[in-house]
Amino acid sequence: MADVALKPREAVTTDISALKQQLVDCIRMLEQSDIIDYNGHCSIRLDDNRILINVGSCQRSKLTVADICTIDMEGNVIEGNGKPPLEFHLHAGVYRARPDVRAVVHAHPKWSTFLTMVGQSYLPVYAQGSLVYPMPVLDSPNSINNKPMADRLAATLGDRPAAMMKSHGAVTVGKTIVEAFVLANYLEENAYRQYMALQIGKPYSFTDDEVALCREKLWTESLFKRTWDHFRAKLG
Ligand SMILES: [Zn+2]
Repeated sequence: MADVALKPREAVTTDISALKQQLVDCIRMLEQSDIIDYNGHCSIRLDDNRILINVGSCQRSKLTVADICTIDMEGNVIEGNGKPPLEFHLHAGVYRARPDVRAVVHAHPKWSTFLTMVGQSYLPVYAQGSLVYPMPVLDSPNSINNKPMADRLAATLGDRPAAMMKSHGAVTVGKTIVEAFVLANYLEENAYRQYMALQIGKPYSFTDDEVALCREKLWTESLFKRTWDHFRAKLG
């Protein structure tokens, strides 16, 4: 499936049509992995603070580039066939607070949300999952559909690559949509393994040294690319 593999250059492209296609691929991969449902949303920040984001009403499982709109930081549509999701504030809030962030994934995945429903802390129970540990949690299940909530989420996220939102969902951020996608995948997979392990005992939680080693060895563009390509190839 080399023909659909992400070439290194494409991971940092500034070509808008290529970025739109990456965003579409990201959302479809998250949908296929049961991380995004009919309601999640992902975005890419362009230069001059314009944002590419899927329109709120689109069908995530059959997404195309026609479902991507361009908005400004206030949510006004600059280009596209529909309105952004009501939670566009989440994306704008993160971009306001984090100049280093160029892509945001927000989903309402099951396994990580089970943990926050019962106040169970996210633990690093598998190597890739440790990349987003420690995990801040927003202490509210409310939708991020206004600026005060967006600022609250951004403050919870701080300088971290991911945060969970109590009984609501998760957000991951990155320098590219590849990074934000891959981290969302690792986060949910870790939460799944933690949840399942909890059914039969007390899961082993990586030590600080083990977490540091994972970060040194696994936070690499090549592993992120391989993870993306693995799921991208399944889209066909
Ligand atoms: Zn949400």
